[in-house]
Amino acid sequence: MERERTYIMLKPDCVRRGLIGRVIARIEDKGYQITAMKMMQLDEPILREHYAHLADKPFFPNLVNFMTSGPVVAMIVEGENVIVGMRKIMGKTAFEDAEPGTIRGDFANTTTENLIHGSDSPETAEAEIKRFFG
Ligand code: UDP
Ligand code: MG
Repeated sequence: MERERTYIMLKPDCVRRGLIGRVIARIEDKGYQITAMKMMQLDEPILREHYAHLADKPFFPNLVNFMTSGPVVAMIVEGENVIVGMRKIMGKTAFEDAEPGTIRGDFANTTTENLIHGSDSPETAEAEIKRFFG
């Protein structure tokens, strides 16, 4: 399988709770490489783009409030099959479905504040890397 890259973002709850190091350790333990990383403050326009598929959901305003509530850590992560691999390490979106042993399963107790974002396909990975790293 070929080497891929994905866009990973540690959300404001992860930063606020002091879990940046523990979450990054899991990514590095897996053997993936972090090839770019920066802390940044998001605003509503970039979130409207990033979460365009969710703009009509009732939870969207709450999601924007949360995602602008503090800084995030944006990363490019590389490795073989890393897009699917990171989604596995992250765990399912809904906190009650996220298995123990996954980041969300071990640390999240709400669906909105679920610590981490990871691209869901090669196309979204490239679009998200462009969006957040230019
Ligand atoms: N989200 C939420 N309520 C929901 C579904 C999603 O607040 O019922 C939030 C949650 O933070 C999630 C993000 O919206 O991570 C993006 O949703 P998506 O379905 O893309 O899930 P993901 O790809 O992050 O697992
Ligand atoms: Mg998603």
